[in-house]
Amino acid sequence: MNYHVLTLFPEMIEQGMNTSIIGRAIEQGLLSLEAVNIRDYSTNKHHKVDDYPYGGGAGMVMQAQPIYDAYCALEKKMEKKPRVIYLTPQGRTFSQKIAQDLAKEQNLVFLCGHYEGIDERVLEEIVTDYVSIGDYVLTGGELPAMVMMDTISRLIPGVLNNEDSAEYESFQNSLLEHPQYSRPEVWKDKRVPEVLLSGHHEKIAQWRHEQSLERTFLRRPDLLEKAPLDKKDKKYIEQIAANQAISDENVTEE
Ligand code: SAM
Repeated sequence: MNYHVLTLFPEMIEQGMNTSIIGRAIEQGLLSLEAVNIRDYSTNKHHKVDDYPYGGGAGMVMQAQPIYDAYCALEKKMEKKPRVIYLTPQGRTFSQKIAQDLAKEQNLVFLCGHYEGIDERVLEEIVTDYVSIGDYVLTGGELPAMVMMDTISRLIPGVLNNEDSAEYESFQNSLLEHPQYSRPEVWKDKRVPEVLLSGHHEKIAQWRHEQSLERTFLRRPDLLEKAPLDKKDKKYIEQIAANQAISDENVTEE
């Protein structure tokens, strides 16, 4: 996977991405990262990249020309037109599913806006995907681009030490992950669930699956609509719902 980030703050991308698991994957050549400074493509003698919005209003708008030229220089080096993702609060909300889809690409270009955003005409010309990381407004697209690259990278074979790690995580199969425990067995009088110490793989897998169902039901019931549940799962959830109703009743009575 080759990431190319069009940004006014390349150092932010480089510093943010060159540590820990992702940094190691870059070193190993599993990923590559190129942060392109849009300002380098400004034809203005003061290297200006923004101007006032037509029609008035607050803030500045990033101009089309330097972004377009920076993109064309990238495109020239590629065999086929890449997907170009504009990070914007106006896009569809990023999800594990979108990450899985993007992880299949060989090259991804991320376009980071700043100030009030980007001249619409260059977006129309080069952008293939409009993606938001949530319903709030940040100062720039750099953090959202890093959120996306981090998520996608974990799905690239070899990036995680244990290939299974990504497969069984939250949102795979529309379920949240089961709780995790590590040493010691007892901490602040809390014991690790007995089944996890049993060495009985089948029982552990069943316990984890049930915990996953319960967590998802309690914390993100909306996800269950898309989860592939069998009869046994549905029965288990009905049981949790019934227990929940009883404990809610008891609280009201108290
Ligand atoms: N005026 C724009 C609007 O209302 O849609 C917001 C501009 S924002 C201050 C500056 C830049 O930050 C955007 O161009 C975009 O690249 C990035 N950004 C802000 N919030 C974001 C979000 N939730 N998801 C993705 N990118 C975001």
